[in-house]
Amino acid sequence: MRLTISVLVALVTIPFVLAISPNPNYEYHLPNLYDVSSSDPSNDRSSDPSDPSSDPLSGPQSGWADHLQAQLAQPWPLKNNRHRIKYCYANKATKDALECRMQDAMTLWQNALGGPPSAMARYSLFFKATKDKDHKDLFCYPDFQDMDHKGTWNTAIKEDVLAVFTSSQEGISHATVGFRPGQAMEMVVDHGAEAAVVAHELGHVMGMIHEQSRSDRDTYIKFYCENIKGYQEALNAIKQDPDALAQLAKNNPPVADDKKEEWFINKICNTMFWSRKYEFLAYAYLKGDGMVGIPVDGDWGFDFDSIMLYSSFQTAASSLCDYMKDFCVMLRKTTVNGQETLSTFDSKSKPSLRDAQFVRKWYPWVGEQVPKTSQKRWD
Ligand SMILES: [Zn+2]
Repeated sequence: MRLTISVLVALVTIPFVLAISPNPNYEYHLPNLYDVSSSDPSNDRSSDPSDPSSDPLSGPQSGWADHLQAQLAQPWPLKNNRHRIKYCYANKATKDALECRMQDAMTLWQNALGGPPSAMARYSLFFKATKDKDHKDLFCYPDFQDMDHKGTWNTAIKEDVLAVFTSSQEGISHATVGFRPGQAMEMVVDHGAEAAVVAHELGHVMGMIHEQSRSDRDTYIKFYCENIKGYQEALNAIKQDPDALAQLAKNNPPVADDKKEEWFINKICNTMFWSRKYEFLAYAYLKGDGMVGIPVDGDWGFDFDSIMLYSSFQTAASSLCDYMKDFCVMLRKTTVNGQETLSTFDSKSKPSLRDAQFVRKWYPWVGEQVPKTSQKRWD
């Protein structure tokens, strides 16, 4: 299923490396993908026993990409043997606009995980909206107007919670990545976003980043920065930016005249600072999520089924990608009979099996008892 063009952007605020020590309660569960069939046989490393990479212990570290193992963010905390993402809607209007889609998105994740949190489903994460002691809604900003005039935080909400907003920019949804105590944790959802878009943002909230941001993604895809909308504008802007020109002049070794174009292109396409300065969406594709020397890759092979992977045409300047690959932003590499071929891929309508494995790894079921409330839906 194809999503309408809706820009899914991880709001990558300057990451803060948290020096957390591993929580002994996080029992590591080896991903178990052998008991499920992959929807895409070419993704299924277990199908070829002669392939050394089919062994999860010896295969390349690849698969979902996240900020948790890199300790750029924490998993949401454990309370009474349950990992909990507590969230508040900005105000009642936000709840009215988004509640149904939030429920639908949570259901998409629960379906991918095989049901509500339980020993059987092997995860313990649930979402909980903030309520007062009489079970009435607590909104984050009682006098909220818009994103630029949020008003004052509801002092009745004392914990670190996720604040949920509707987007003031059409087609733009984004979210902060993982649990970051003491810092703003926000999810902003476009009015017209489908449940799958909200599920993508929930992936960020849980700690995931874009699959195309894996540092080894060039092995699996070709990326065409020049096909992202706003490319020419960003390139024109940086060429006239006094700060960029000053940095170029100071570059050591000096940049030759015939290499300057390349230098500007590299800055807008491959660096967080310059791509964000011009709001050029290349920042949603940065390898290693724009961080140097910090691994953001998880386990298992590049997941073309992941809800965290953009489609070939998302963010493209032209809608012609369907007909002419020259207009696409990303293409999948496949080698057939020694020949590399390139093909398009769509957005996904639900989290993949490996997306579910991410949840099981970081939010595993804890304890033997199955609390009564575990059979409840996420709310
Ligand atoms: Zn995103």
